[in-house]
Amino acid sequence: MTLVPSHFAPQSKETGALARIAVVGRGFTGMMTAIALLKTFDRPFHLVLHDPYPRIDGGEGLAHAASPLLNSRVRDLSIDPVLRDDFRAWLEADGRWNEGVQTDAAAGAVDHAFVPGEIFSAYVYQRFAEALRGRTDVIMQISADSVTAVERHPQGGLNVFSGGERARFDAVFLATGYGLRDGREDAGAQGAAAEAIVIGGGVHAVDRALRLLASGGAAHVTLISASGFLPQPHTAAAVGTVVSDRPLPNTLRGAFRSLREAANRAAADGSGWQGIMNDFRQRAGDLWRGLTPEERRRFKRHVKPIYDSHRNRLPPAQYARLREAIASGAITVRKGKVERIATNGVLLSTTGGLQVLAAEQTIDCRIRSADLDSPLFRALFSSGLAQRDELDLGVFVDRSGRVVNGKDRFEGLFAMGPLGLGSLPDIDLVPQIVTQAYAAASALAEHQPASAHGVQAG
Ligand SMILES: Cc1cc2nc3c(=O)[nH]c(=O)nc-3n(C[C@H](O)[C@H](O)[C@H](O)COP(=O)(O)OP(=O)(O)OC[C@H]3O[C@@H](n4cnc5c(N)ncnc54)[C@H](O)[C@@H]3O)c2cc1C
Repeated sequence: MTLVPSHFAPQSKETGALARIAVVGRGFTGMMTAIALLKTFDRPFHLVLHDPYPRIDGGEGLAHAASPLLNSRVRDLSIDPVLRDDFRAWLEADGRWNEGVQTDAAAGAVDHAFVPGEIFSAYVYQRFAEALRGRTDVIMQISADSVTAVERHPQGGLNVFSGGERARFDAVFLATGYGLRDGREDAGAQGAAAEAIVIGGGVHAVDRALRLLASGGAAHVTLISASGFLPQPHTAAAVGTVVSDRPLPNTLRGAFRSLREAANRAAADGSGWQGIMNDFRQRAGDLWRGLTPEERRRFKRHVKPIYDSHRNRLPPAQYARLREAIASGAITVRKGKVERIATNGVLLSTTGGLQVLAAEQTIDCRIRSADLDSPLFRALFSSGLAQRDELDLGVFVDRSGRVVNGKDRFEGLFAMGPLGLGSLPDIDLVPQIVTQAYAAASALAEHQPASAHGVQAG
């Protein structure tokens, strides 16, 4: 564990007098949570950021996969919910980033542009460093060990187990996203190949396939989408939210019928379905809470792939390149379930039976889900501190990310970002994670247990 030395004032050096807060995971969600705490939690505190993944000590966050293009526009990526144009202002203040910004000539403005993940990460990390510098009453530590368990401390607070040690905290923010990183995406990605396979039907898989072709890394790519769907495009010029005055039916079938009708009307009058979808997403949280468990399961089984392909959209230029690559035969799209990945290809299960697809390179870009079978989550479930949601997407949380277990909840335990996908649809996206991080930091400040004024370690 490394002590970051320069950020605490003499009066705060007595660490036993500080509230102790752990953030588990230093991906975007963990870093965002830390920023929100630094900006909102108005008491001196001792912050420990846990993550064994080495490359994000510098705040690389989203950029870990060779910096794909983010599929959200600049205008939607501010880490400050009040200063909505903070990211744009940051970009404009530093000429170094101009080259990486893909501005649509038709739309013209930086607000509507798309940027690679590394630029966004640099912004997040700079804002984190500034927030830390602004807090002379905060001690921050970085731990390079993974967290293997979180348990109640008999005298209040939570014990966090990592690196063979146990430490007591007033609050723990789980931000473990898609689990420990294993470098899986980069496996076999070196050298040029005649045939490459990219597994995944999301924006990240498409981005990876296009970059392989553009760099000469592959002459042909087979893109395997389990559902057969690929991401839809953003509009050329950014649309906002087209607010509907019609109430959303409270059944899955009714809600999606209403969405389809509204989208068809928008397509017919030329305004495009994207604005309608943006509105639907804002109302999806309320719809989700009203669905029965069976309807939620049906959503996961039948609707989620098409919903995801319309909410996670490709920048228009990238979408055009995808269509061209498919039309020219440079990309072949296959629908099927990958049963096995070998060094020389994959075993694919299709409606026509099992098939072997040969390739010199296979890159797995499937969207992972939270690793609920890790020692950390097994410990949380067996102690009753957290409860798996019925779709196995994560754990039950309230809007601020606080973990709820039936009627029970522990005020100091939060599961942030994608870990709450079973309770909050869309909580895997930057704007939603930003809002949640501030809500969580405020909730902690309001409900902090009495012991929080400095639990002793051990
Ligand atoms: C390539 C990419 C592009 C994206 N583009 C966009 C976009 O344009 N717009 C948008 O809104 N969203 C985008 N997203 C989605 C959104 O930002 C993600 O939901 C977000 O990155 C999730 O981050 P996370 O920190 O929760 O999880 P992760 O990125 O998975 O990070 C989790 C971290 O926790 C660590 N960890 C796991 N288990 C433990 C443990 N037991 N102990 C300690 N550490 C642990 C891991 O090592 C990892 O570093 C993108 C995501 C990716 C990956």
